[in-house]
Amino acid sequence: MTSPVSPGEAAPATPRIAICGLSLEASTYSPARTTRADFVRQHGAEILDYYPFFDAELRARATWLPLVRYRAIPGGAIPRADYDAIKREMVDALAAVLPVDGVLFDIHGAASVVGLDDPEADLAAALRAVAGERAVFSSGMDLHGNVSLDLAQLVDLMTCYRMAPHEDWLDTKARAAVNLVEWLARHGEKRPARAWVQVPILLPGEQTSTRLEPAAGLYAKVGSLASGPGHPLWDLGLWVGYPWADEPRNQAAIVAYGEDAEACGAACADLAQGLWEAREQFTFVAPTGTLDECLDLARDSTARPYFVSDSGDNPTAGGAGDVTWSLARLLERTDLEGLRVVYASIPDAPAARLARDAGVGATVTLTLGARVDPGPEGPLSLTGVVEHIAEGDEVAQTEVVLRIGPVAVLLTERRKPYHLISDFTRNGIDVSACDIVLVKIGYLEPELFAAAADWRLALTPGGVDQHLARLGHERVARPMFPLDAAARAGGGYEPTLTPTLLTEAS
Ligand SMILES: [Zn+2]
Repeated sequence: MTSPVSPGEAAPATPRIAICGLSLEASTYSPARTTRADFVRQHGAEILDYYPFFDAELRARATWLPLVRYRAIPGGAIPRADYDAIKREMVDALAAVLPVDGVLFDIHGAASVVGLDDPEADLAAALRAVAGERAVFSSGMDLHGNVSLDLAQLVDLMTCYRMAPHEDWLDTKARAAVNLVEWLARHGEKRPARAWVQVPILLPGEQTSTRLEPAAGLYAKVGSLASGPGHPLWDLGLWVGYPWADEPRNQAAIVAYGEDAEACGAACADLAQGLWEAREQFTFVAPTGTLDECLDLARDSTARPYFVSDSGDNPTAGGAGDVTWSLARLLERTDLEGLRVVYASIPDAPAARLARDAGVGATVTLTLGARVDPGPEGPLSLTGVVEHIAEGDEVAQTEVVLRIGPVAVLLTERRKPYHLISDFTRNGIDVSACDIVLVKIGYLEPELFAAAADWRLALTPGGVDQHLARLGHERVARPMFPLDAAARAGGGYEPTLTPTLLTEAS
């Protein structure tokens, strides 16, 4: 135990706070793997520089010890050896800067590791073993993360986003940092009163957008209950959980912390009951349909551009991104002639390099996709004309626009979510001039949402299939809404939604 103050005393004027993190959302239904090399690794000062809220004032309030932070775009599970290496690096880095009063534990909450449940709790336990029982841990998480009781016991100050799409992500990360500083200033190493409760529902993010009820109202309530430093309830989070992993922890959770356990418990119980009672009201954020139904509507509509989400292989939720099924269906259609159609995107490194080397204007025959996730279609063979080549995107690397009849197919060297208008303009595509834009995504991120004149969510196959029952969960708690009839409204199952109060750790 190395903390410089004893229980009940105030912390030193400038507490020592380590920062380390692991940020990944990983589908266990994708055959993809996220290796250590797939992560962006930040260390030292670049972690502070990455977050704009680390202004001069916040920097002056603590001796910040930015260690290492790993983040990757959503994908498949981390191989065990890769995870162990990341963990060892973090533990060693923390051991080298002791003593610490706090740890800003920067996690997403939905990482998966092959052969290991609950990696965030495993990592938190390893870091706490080094930091000491009295160090205060704080995390600002994604609301699609999972919070097991183990994790809730290990992390003192937990909060998460209140918006999906996550327009408040930086506010949340800032709150986790500022509240940690505030807690240490007011209470030193005394740990907060907390409450935790799980709610047995498992919903895709596309049904829990905060643009719509009931999520809008539930998260508005979260915001109104969070009273800030000094109050009985400082902050709280409602995690809707991550449905594309099959672990006992995967379900919704609510955690609150502050000065008073009863206040935290009452808020958790209230929100848990509200969430459970609203479970049948969650609907998809856009009208859904089969891919063909959505394309029929898009073809016949006068709304331009008309967006269709290819949701089952959405790379931002953990899809491998190279499932070819939807592209194959699109190219089979003979009724789209005369329309301007974009498909974004399909990753295949050898095919992208071959097309690039052929050059703009060349006609190329390629076999592409399905290297990671074969899906129901397998690799696709096609012939098209190279229309545009872009180099230098740090995620996609080489991007090629391949013209096949009315369809411009974005072929990338590496898996890349297309979220921004600039992702298209960089490739010579003016989205506003298109008729149909088929994009591997779930709910539309803000820029695309603003650009879309109309929109459908196609329920396509892949590692993040929106039809949860098709996935066949085996290890989550049962009954689980909506997987089990007993958990549906009127089904007879009423879960115990009594929060567990976590008081001062012994
Ligand atoms: Zn999320």
